[in-house]
Amino acid sequence: MKIIVQKFGGTSLDTAEKRGLAVEHIKSAKELGYLPVVVVSAMGRAGKPYATDTLIEIAEEACFNINPREKDLLMSCGEIISAVVMVQSLQKTGLAATALTGAQAGIITNDNFGEAEITKVDPMRIVRYLKEGIIPVLAGFQGITADGEITTLGRGGSDTTASVVAAAIDALYIEIYTDVEGVMTADPNLVENARILDKVSYNEVCELAYQGARVIHPRAAEIAMKENIPIKIKSNFNKNSGTLIHNQGLRGIKGNRPVTGVTSRRNIAFIKISPQKPAEYATGLIVFKILASHGISVDFINIHPEVISFVVEARNSEKVKQLLEKYDFVFEFNDGYVKVSVVGGGMTGRPGVMARLVEALNQEEIEIYQTTDSHTTISCLIRIEQEKESLNALHKAFKLDL
Ligand code: ADP
Ligand code: ASP
Ligand code: MG
Repeated sequence: MKIIVQKFGGTSLDTAEKRGLAVEHIKSAKELGYLPVVVVSAMGRAGKPYATDTLIEIAEEACFNINPREKDLLMSCGEIISAVVMVQSLQKTGLAATALTGAQAGIITNDNFGEAEITKVDPMRIVRYLKEGIIPVLAGFQGITADGEITTLGRGGSDTTASVVAAAIDALYIEIYTDVEGVMTADPNLVENARILDKVSYNEVCELAYQGARVIHPRAAEIAMKENIPIKIKSNFNKNSGTLIHNQGLRGIKGNRPVTGVTSRRNIAFIKISPQKPAEYATGLIVFKILASHGISVDFINIHPEVISFVVEARNSEKVKQLLEKYDFVFEFNDGYVKVSVVGGGMTGRPGVMARLVEALNQEEIEIYQTTDSHTTISCLIRIEQEKESLNALHKAFKLDL
């Protein structure tokens, strides 16, 4: 069987017209002799009636603290509604289709509500429908625990559903349809001159996704890389070929270009702790142990005798403040930062990348509060007000618009 997985994001499904375009992509795949397995996200973004954020808002209106279990139950409805509506749209054009929840599709997870990990996929039911010539339309972003609790896979997790299902049924490739042309050198909503990347390596796309480019969920890219399943990221709104993600090793595809893309992650809080005794390095050890034992990850760590600084995601702000107060640390806490990153397999072992980055930001009078780097990424901590400016400056400095 020539099976492929076609995943449609929320912004490709929020009007009858857009769903019609999605149906055309599914129909074309069938006409070419493929057996498509369809994965859908909840329809639309915040503000649309059945979008994930809207569902959360409704429950929060009743009571702000939703139990994680109930929150997952609620969020899973968005994708289920979407799957049913897609089945109706397919049936209208004469294509036989059946909607499946994550549980019915055999997606088993642990019970980490809100960020559940898939422990097993039993594709028996999907395969049965494919053999009967029926298109399975799966509600993305959800699964079920061994004892029957509904879970979700983390925001943006429908991409993960597409990858795990593709791996379980030996799909030839995955197509991810979205509202942009593919993986681009930057988010086109922030950088006007962003260009589409025809091909990009799994490593680069994973790194871009981890550093905030939400065009694909990092876990989805990671699974596809491990299983060596090619991914095509395409626009739902045309027939362009989009971006092919495949195995190009660590080096960037454009050999002579150190940076492949720029990206940013918002909602970062910056914390500075003043150790109470000079040169008290033990303070750092205690702080990081406390935060780790509460499952809070830290980044941009800097340990100095007079100050220990690090950042956390803003969603953990309250918890971190409470912990630091509880243990009597003297600290400064500031919200409103963004992590801006340049990513490229081609920067490994290449001198001058950091210099070019600092120069580009200096020229625009953008203050860098911290930096970190790995062999494929350099990240800077910047004030949120300067996010767009810094992305554009870096995009230009690394000639990504050419
Ligand atoms: P979907 O509903 O299709 O899953 P998402 O909002 O999750 O859509 O992802 C698509 C969005 O990702 C785009 O609208 C774009 O704003 C954003 N994005 C961020 N970085 C990039 C990038 N490097 N290339 C393309 N899109 C990007
Ligand atoms: N609907 C979910 C979200 O908004 C999952 C997804 O879109 O992939 O996060
Ligand atoms: Mg998405």
